[in-house]
Amino acid sequence: MEARDMDLTEDQISMRRLVRKFVDEKVIPFVKENREREWSAPPEKCWPKELFFEADKLGLRSLDVPEKYGGISIDTLTTAIIVEEMGRGDPGLTNALTNNRKLSAYLARFAPEHIQDKWFPLYMEDPTFLMANCNTEPRGASDRALPYNVPEAALQTRARYEDGYWILNGRKQFITNGYLGKLFFVYANTNPNVGIAEGTSCFLVPRDTPGFKVERANEKVGRRFCINGEMVFEDCRVPEDHLLVRDEAYRKRGGYGTKGKIAESAQTLGVAQAAFDETVTYVHEQFQGGRYIIHHQVVAARLARMATKLGAMRAFLYRVARAIDAGMTDSGKLCLMLKVFTSETSFEVCKDAVELHGGNGCMREFGIEKHLRDALVALHTEGTIDIHLFKIINSMFPETIGSYAGS
Ligand SMILES: Cc1cc2nc3c(=O)[nH]c(=O)nc-3n(C[C@H](O)[C@H](O)[C@H](O)COP(=O)(O)OP(=O)(O)OC[C@H]3O[C@@H](n4cnc5c(N)ncnc54)[C@H](O)[C@@H]3O)c2cc1C
Repeated sequence: MEARDMDLTEDQISMRRLVRKFVDEKVIPFVKENREREWSAPPEKCWPKELFFEADKLGLRSLDVPEKYGGISIDTLTTAIIVEEMGRGDPGLTNALTNNRKLSAYLARFAPEHIQDKWFPLYMEDPTFLMANCNTEPRGASDRALPYNVPEAALQTRARYEDGYWILNGRKQFITNGYLGKLFFVYANTNPNVGIAEGTSCFLVPRDTPGFKVERANEKVGRRFCINGEMVFEDCRVPEDHLLVRDEAYRKRGGYGTKGKIAESAQTLGVAQAAFDETVTYVHEQFQGGRYIIHHQVVAARLARMATKLGAMRAFLYRVARAIDAGMTDSGKLCLMLKVFTSETSFEVCKDAVELHGGNGCMREFGIEKHLRDALVALHTEGTIDIHLFKIINSMFPETIGSYAGS
């Protein structure tokens, strides 16, 4: 047994085996066969719809859907193991699914029962059903990630109450699953006179709501099989019972942030593992200086450093996942550290992979560059690296660093 399997349950190991088989047999071949589709297909045709049907058969879409609607609940460590494997296949597909998972948990936690009774069955019967979390706006997202708790940081998207409806006006961008989503979780300002922690609400907005429009797909460099989008709200009329969290939506998130950081960390580790695996093959096949390049010591040493970084990322991921499952008091801080460490380290590993491929590393048809592009995206998701760093140090030394703004 390898150290990475130490203390894993039989269920966790067999779950990993199942997802690994799916990734090796379906996802990796799909990515290889669709190098052009990633770039040239319009968003509606680019996203890997066929893989969602396969993922559905394995139950990968129903994680965190309540059991009474046919879903299953799994612990954080098992989630991390599954998501790492999927990220190894394609982090775009993975991101679309983990986004659904976070929002299933959010819906189960905050939506009234009759709303859950409507949406969970629709979600479960339709493998193409995507959900989107709409927070970021053209004026930025870091203020909300901190949060910068003053009225001037308020979301530009506003909601006012009128005759049994909430009327939303504003714009969102970069939203994962946003272009093709069917159900949107929208953050909007409901009280401009207080800090954002006291004046932001979250609403459920179905795609066909009057006044809601998806305007365009955001063209990304990486994770291109997940389609992000930009949407506008023009006097968008949301029924009263679609208000999920009133005023304190940034305080009451029901573990949304923690789930997001674990998923991001696990999938970007998977990306680095894929880059490493392909590089191992390449250095055993590429012949330079009278020998396969693995025999050049500098190449071998670089490979060893990549492997060391993979081991460190995985050990940290498992440790933090266990800390969350055990309810440790510092697990929030550890999650922030994990996200910084894995996104930076995965990017380094992928950069090494590209360099060890020489000129082929820069060629699109070769595919190794995709991992570097995919790893780059993880530097920005769930908040930037610098915002994470600030939050880490603030949680360690609140007296000396102080609060960022407000009381
Ligand atoms: C692939 C992808 C998927 C995404 N998915 C979603 C999604 O599903 N939903 C959603 O709502 N958003 C999503 N986002 C948006 C993402 O959360 C934001 O891009 C991220 O939080 C950074 O915000 P910003 O782009 O507005 O940059 P800004 O906030 O404008 O930051 C720009 C730079 O300034 C720095 N900075 C800003 N404020 C400070 C400060 N106070 N102190 C020090 N430095 C600061 C930042 O660190 C960064 O380097 C996604 C982004 C990407 C790339």
